Amino acid sequence: MKGLMMDCQLLIPSILERAESLTGHKEIISRLPDKSIHRYNYKALAERSKKLSSALQKLGVKEGDRVATFCWNHYQHLEAYFAIPATGAVIHTLNIRLSAEDLAFVINQASDKILIVDQVLLPVFEKFRADISPEKIIVIRQSDEPVCEDYLIYEEVLEWADSEIFQPFNGDENTAAMLCYTSGTTGKPKGVLYSHRSVVLNAMTLLLSCSGIGITENDVVLPVVPMFHAAAWGFPFSCAFSGASLVLPGPYSDAPDLLELIAEHKVTITGGVPTVFVTMLHYLNEHQERYKLVLRQIIVGGSAAPKYLIKDFQEKHAVSVLHSWGMTELSPLGSTAPVTTEIKAKNKDLQLEYAGKQGQPVPFLKVRGKTEHGWIPWDGQSPGELEVRGPCVASGYYLADEPSESFTDDGWFKTGDIAVIHPNGFIELKDRTKDIIKSGGEWISSITLENTLMSHPSVSDAAVIGIPDTKWIERPCAYLVLKEGHKVSAVELREFLKDKVAKFWIPEEYHFIESMPKTSVGKTMKSALRSRYLEEDNV
Ligand code: ADP
Repeated sequence: MKGLMMDCQLLIPSILERAESLTGHKEIISRLPDKSIHRYNYKALAERSKKLSSALQKLGVKEGDRVATFCWNHYQHLEAYFAIPATGAVIHTLNIRLSAEDLAFVINQASDKILIVDQVLLPVFEKFRADISPEKIIVIRQSDEPVCEDYLIYEEVLEWADSEIFQPFNGDENTAAMLCYTSGTTGKPKGVLYSHRSVVLNAMTLLLSCSGIGITENDVVLPVVPMFHAAAWGFPFSCAFSGASLVLPGPYSDAPDLLELIAEHKVTITGGVPTVFVTMLHYLNEHQERYKLVLRQIIVGGSAAPKYLIKDFQEKHAVSVLHSWGMTELSPLGSTAPVTTEIKAKNKDLQLEYAGKQGQPVPFLKVRGKTEHGWIPWDGQSPGELEVRGPCVASGYYLADEPSESFTDDGWFKTGDIAVIHPNGFIELKDRTKDIIKSGGEWISSITLENTLMSHPSVSDAAVIGIPDTKWIERPCAYLVLKEGHKVSAVELREFLKDKVAKFWIPEEYHFIESMPKTSVGKTMKSALRSRYLEEDNV
């Protein structure tokens, strides 16, 4: 028997409709490339976004077309986030930090019809302009510098709109809305095509208290995570949903720039990769008196958060750090590590242990771990490759030439992450399948080693890779960035690890480097360390 409920679809335009009618007065603040501050509210966002939708339709955009953005985090990008799906088309957010070759590849694969480009990014854009053929290029003006005559100007395009007669997309919630490519950490970027439904569900997850995030109308949210990567984790949609004020940092993500925005605009929630907040923590430790913060929560994800980051923010600055795990393929939130009643009852050290894990799966996400021998028990000890299934999980890659090995026959997605699952459902990531180190047939967790090394008071960042070894086939090798003014030797680090990890886990070599190579989205680029080792350090 079917339920007697209305057949109403979960669509992105309804998020904006809600923001406009209930919290139209709430502010959206953007730091623009010239560092000036732009302020308006959800009502103005809705009006301009409708204008953009209508103007795009006049330019020939139809349902299913792809319209790409090549932009920083700011209000016009936010307008595109809502305007493009509202026409029934797909917003393709281009990761501005991909190589020119990869950018041309993803634009051509997606057959992007129109590109919206930040003027300040034109020098990067021109590097691959000749290799792509969109119908139109719209430039968001950000200075008085002349712009090529063939390009349209964003503000002029908005003037063509008939926004009064524009009707937002009202079709099936499974219609494609957003195209995000993986950042290519472990290979060529792959397209993940979100639907209206998956975007809406992911956005709602960020509003849930059980996820530990619980964005409310009272919050002021600053997403450091770029809007060109994994839908900025869903923050823009969740903020509009709840009516939380948004602060968009433009191209500036250095610690002093972010802290200035956080203090000035009374930001309560921010989120991004650990690197950003490690730098922020060090800076804040030295300049605490400069900033009066009301920040209540930092959401870190994208790579493992060092435990000292969680501890120090809490103890020194009274800011809680919520560790989360996600993937582009998951829309992207996969798990968060909230302080459950069970964890609250544990001692401080154990609480920190749990805060440092990747946490419990978000609602509707099923998880299981697999080894060659079968499914892993949830015992917190047996590692296996994490597989997931849920309404916000990709069921395949966009225009993949061949069926991807990432999907199982029974419809699960293989994350490529090796994890143990604790009895309370907390996932603890140990490695990526592609980064695994096997020494004498025994597996060594690079993530655990990195976290342990980062708990040394002199270590600011650590990465562990496998290096060839004649006897053991592979041995771990550590790359370390030390905190400013600190010194530590390989012998001291060995000594430090001795009672913390198994003897055979202790890295063979220690290399001290100025800075860690990072990917386009701020994750440690282990492939660069492996090449560096073979070319320079293997003496
Ligand atoms: P890619 O890096 O492949 O382009 P994503 O940005 O979607 O794609 O990254 C997803 C991967 O990032 C995960 O599979 C996992 O390996 C890693 N990751 C994400 N969050 C965490 C976390 N909290 N701890 C450890 N690793 C993480």
